[in-house]
Amino acid sequence: MNQHIADTAVGHSADTQAPAPVAIQLRNVSRVFESSDRSLVTALDDVSLKIRHREFLSIIGPSGCGKSTILRLLAGLLPATTGDVEIFGLKVTEPRDDIGFVFQRPTLLPWLSIFDNITFPVRHTTGRVDARTKERGQALLQMIGLAEFADKRPNELSGGMQQRVAIARSLLQDPDILLMDEPFSALDALTRDELSMELLRILAERPKTVVFVTHAIQEALLLSDRIAIMSPRPGRILDVIDVPFDRPRGLDTMLNPAFNELANAIRAMVFLREKVGA
Ligand code: ADP
Ligand code: MG
Repeated sequence: MNQHIADTAVGHSADTQAPAPVAIQLRNVSRVFESSDRSLVTALDDVSLKIRHREFLSIIGPSGCGKSTILRLLAGLLPATTGDVEIFGLKVTEPRDDIGFVFQRPTLLPWLSIFDNITFPVRHTTGRVDARTKERGQALLQMIGLAEFADKRPNELSGGMQQRVAIARSLLQDPDILLMDEPFSALDALTRDELSMELLRILAERPKTVVFVTHAIQEALLLSDRIAIMSPRPGRILDVIDVPFDRPRGLDTMLNPAFNELANAIRAMVFLREKVGA
């Protein structure tokens, strides 16, 4: 991998040549779990990764390779067994509430209205929803195109709509860092593409540092500045590749022949462990 390019040419929102500051750093991180039969499972082995401010990095790899574990380490939901996890230069030692997290399932509270679900993080931490949060909740509802569903309950919405609500909720406190764990994988292909485009639009408006876990190579190519490819157990980073396509990206980006070539190269890497570009 061309380390020089990987270290300098990232962070699509940077408007100067100087590289954006490092937002997230994993340094020689390993994570070992004890399984129910007491045997030890090395979920992550010597993972090092640097993610720049406002960079969009996707992680691709087979099921069980430790993708979710990386996100949980970053969110402070889980400690590393060895190595360091740093966010903006500070060691992560506890759960952080300044990070947005979107899971595979929308995880909405079924008894709360859509509006109350979106504003829930503030209600949960402060016990109330102030005027500013209300305003922001309304703006987010508008942004995801669900303003008229404010008073509905989650089960009155489709899966795609519910996932939009979960994304809006993760953006409530305008976090600098957004962690997304296969957020679109439970959705049908069309809704998936639609939500990918929506995410691009949201990020163009309010740039963020995003770590996005997916199985879908095309989705990763459409969204990312770089893609980290992982090997199965023990989870290691095989390669990190730059995604060269100009922004703004759209469905026409996917029609570029180079898009499919890169998708095939990544597929070969994931399934056959061949080096991209080798
Ligand atoms: P992925 O998200 O890539 O599918 P995970 O990060 O969820 O993978 O899991 C990586 C490995 O760690 C798997 O083998 C999984 O069984 C194991 N693992 C994850 N969490 C735990 C846990 N809390 N206890 C025991 N093993 C775990
Ligand atoms: Mg997972």
